[in-house]
Amino acid sequence: MELLEREDFSPIYAQADQVRAEAVGDTVHIRALLEISNHCRRMCTYCGLRAPRQNLTRYRMDPEEVVQAACEAHAVGYRTIVLQSGEDPWYTPLMLGQIVSAIKAKTDMAVTLGCGEMREEDYAFLKLAGTDRYLIKHETADPDLYRRLHPDSSLDKRVGCLRTLKRLGYETGSGFMVGLPGQTLETLAQDLLLLASIPCDMAGIGPFLPHPDTPLRDGTAGDAELTRRCVALARLMLPSANLPATTALTVRGDNGQVFSGGANVVMRKITPNCYKRMYEIYPAQLPDTDIPAQRQQLEEQIRSLGRVPL
Ligand code: SF4
Repeated sequence: MELLEREDFSPIYAQADQVRAEAVGDTVHIRALLEISNHCRRMCTYCGLRAPRQNLTRYRMDPEEVVQAACEAHAVGYRTIVLQSGEDPWYTPLMLGQIVSAIKAKTDMAVTLGCGEMREEDYAFLKLAGTDRYLIKHETADPDLYRRLHPDSSLDKRVGCLRTLKRLGYETGSGFMVGLPGQTLETLAQDLLLLASIPCDMAGIGPFLPHPDTPLRDGTAGDAELTRRCVALARLMLPSANLPATTALTVRGDNGQVFSGGANVVMRKITPNCYKRMYEIYPAQLPDTDIPAQRQQLEEQIRSLGRVPL
């Protein structure tokens, strides 16, 4: 993809940072990310959890384990937990609802789910059970590219989920990958416009990272600078949105720079070590989970950037 790399983007970054400061302040929200299951029925061609992949040990956390991990995160200061999984029908909406209710009964944390596409009645049920937010990225706004990446679904269906979640009163999160094979700068513009049209309350924008056990193994990793530009533009288009410095960018070691261009959220994995390396949408060198120490380290990093951890 042609990147306008010779353009000086620093005025846009400065503007995005100013809009961020005015609209959402200097706080950086630290979210606990718990990956509850790596089972998935879907075929997404970029993802290390895709159903056809054989050389991956699959796991599911018991509901009690999930609630316990959430309580540990709460005890060290987390105010939001994100429960993420592949599309795993083993967790029925009833089970997920019970997990959410139990976490809400034991803590005052906001609960975000990222468990894929569901029927409207299931999303409605989970909202009633106490779920505050739902993340489901559209990944690309190009319908043809979407179909190539997701042979078992369509962009219309995905956007339908986002609109349903918004209508049901969820804080609704989407997002997309930068540098997907076949993507153009025009597609990225469409991605940003789609975020604004929902309009999304959260948007995770990260670089495409090829996974060696997927059909896209030979692709080139997305460009970190182009990703940062997309985050900055998303801030200008959605001034009050929560924009994470996505884990994929953190993997590339670009965390601080993203914070200076509009992001106000960071996710920290709290997935127990026995599961953590089995949740590999893209390859990453993951440190062992140490919930209190990593929370403290992140708070210090955020303070060192002149921002306020929450
Ligand atoms: S991106 Fe999500 S839905 Fe697609 S294969 Fe991976 S875990 Fe499953």
